[in-house]
Order: sequence, then C-alpha cells, then structure tokens
Amino acid sequence: MPKILFRREKKEFVPELNREVTSVKAKQYFVSDDSKIVHTSEGSIPASELVKPSGSKVFTQNSNKEFVLLKADFIDVYKRLRKLPQTIPLKDIGFIVTETGIDKDSIVVDAGAGSGALSCFLAHLCKHVTTYEIRSDFLANVESNIQSLGLKNICVKNKSIYDGIEETNVDVVTLDLPEPWLALPSVEKALRVGGFVVSYSPSVPQIVDFVSAVQKNEKFLIIKTVELSERLWEVNGRRVRPKSIEIGHSGFLTLVRRIC
Ligand code: SAH
Repeated sequence: MPKILFRREKKEFVPELNREVTSVKAKQYFVSDDSKIVHTSEGSIPASELVKPSGSKVFTQNSNKEFVLLKADFIDVYKRLRKLPQTIPLKDIGFIVTETGIDKDSIVVDAGAGSGALSCFLAHLCKHVTTYEIRSDFLANVESNIQSLGLKNICVKNKSIYDGIEETNVDVVTLDLPEPWLALPSVEKALRVGGFVVSYSPSVPQIVDFVSAVQKNEKFLIIKTVELSERLWEVNGRRVRPKSIEIGHSGFLTLVRRIC
C-alpha cells in the first residue's frame, strides 16, 4: 500500500544571531511499497515501522529521526503519475470540475489522453470516462497510470477524436489537443443537450480558431474563456509576501454549452 513520510520543519532560536533558524528542513518521501525498508537522507526506516496506522510517528533505525507516516491518498498517487506529454495543472482541473458540475453520475469523453492525468482525475469523480489518443506509444503509460490509481471506470481508445466519438448522451467533453475546433463535428453528435465542452489550449491562435468555429454552430453557446493564475505566497512569521518567482502560464480554458 502506498504511504507518505513527512519530516516536519523545526526552527530554533539562536541567541548569537538573535533570530530563529531552520534546524530541521521539511521533507517528504513517497513510499510505493510499504513492505520494504525506506532509505532517507536522515537514515533508514524499517518496514516494521511502515505498517503503523496513518498519523503515527515513525523513527529512523540508527539516528532515531522522527517522521510522520500517512496512508497515501488519491492526490498523493496522482502527483506521482508518470507525465509524458505536458498535463493540465490542478488549478485548471478545478475549473473544469466546478464549472461543469461533474459528479458521480457524469459520463465524460476526453481527448487526447496524453499522460491520462486529466482523464484519471475526472474518473476519480464521475461515473465513466472514455479518453481518445492517437499516439499508440503513449497508451502503455496511460494504462499504467490508471492502474496505479486503481481506477476501473476509464476506457482508453487509440483513435482520433476528429474521426468521431462512439459514445452518446455524454455530459462533458474535455479537449486538450492541438486543433480542438476539428473535434466539434464529433462532439456535436456525442454531447447531450445541456452538456458542456471545455477546451484547454496554451496559445491565443488556438482560442481564436476554436471560438470562431463554435460561434458558427448554433447548437453551441460560448460561456467564457479564462486564464487562471495561481500565485504562491511565502508565509514565514511576519515575513508574508508573494514568492519571488515568475508568474507561469499554463493555458486558456474555453467553456462551451450545447443548447439545442
Ligand atoms: N490532458 C492530457 C494531456 C494531453 S496532451 C493529460 O492531462 O495528461 C495532448 C495529447 O493529444 C497528445 O498526447 C496527442 O497525441 C493527443 N492528440 C492530438 N491529436 C489528437 C486527436 N485528433 N485525437 C486524439 N488525441 C490526439
């Protein structure tokens, strides 16, 4: 069973410096197999410690360094998936889930599968996901990611979504591929009236072509195009400020609804 080991950060006041310094750095280890000894930079933790209940304190063999043991949740395993092509960040998955209202009864079609990250996240929440992928060399990785998460409700098809969607009465279609506008004729047949399409694209020309193709089709209504930015903050005592890193760009999300 996968587990997580956390080493808590510790700070100590150093009188000579008249300030607190970090004496123990925060660390995190992912344990994929809890029946084997884990080697950390602080020493080894025997398998006998790893079977303790979630939330237990466990200690390294010789140096007696303390870690906290947790059972790995879906999100811990998800973050460790092997990502071959670039995947959609969690903040953008958040938009897809909340704006479409996906739930345990939803039927979803996704393309392209890529690493299977988005389809796995959606399958974790909804009834069934079918994901289309043209690159046969990506399929083994997608299947292995699905297996790592123990998901049974995803079907991977080695087909181009531009050539048609075999599923019908679909609640949500997610598109993360170079020319999403070419998928519209397939989506139109598969999506139920009232269902949503979310297209995720990194660059502006893709939005221009997708939105203008959607606008020409009276079955669809553009709801909005957004870009979400996540800004990390540093919270260290009273030193609280945005982290001094660049603002990264992931992609634009266009939300569309089938209205007739
Ligand atoms: N959303 C995915 C990443 C997708 S990357 C994830 O979270 O893991 C884009 C993928 O679309 C690539 O793997 C590419 O091979 C695939 N693709 C491109 N055109 C396609 C098409 N016509 N039908 C299905 N997949 C396609």
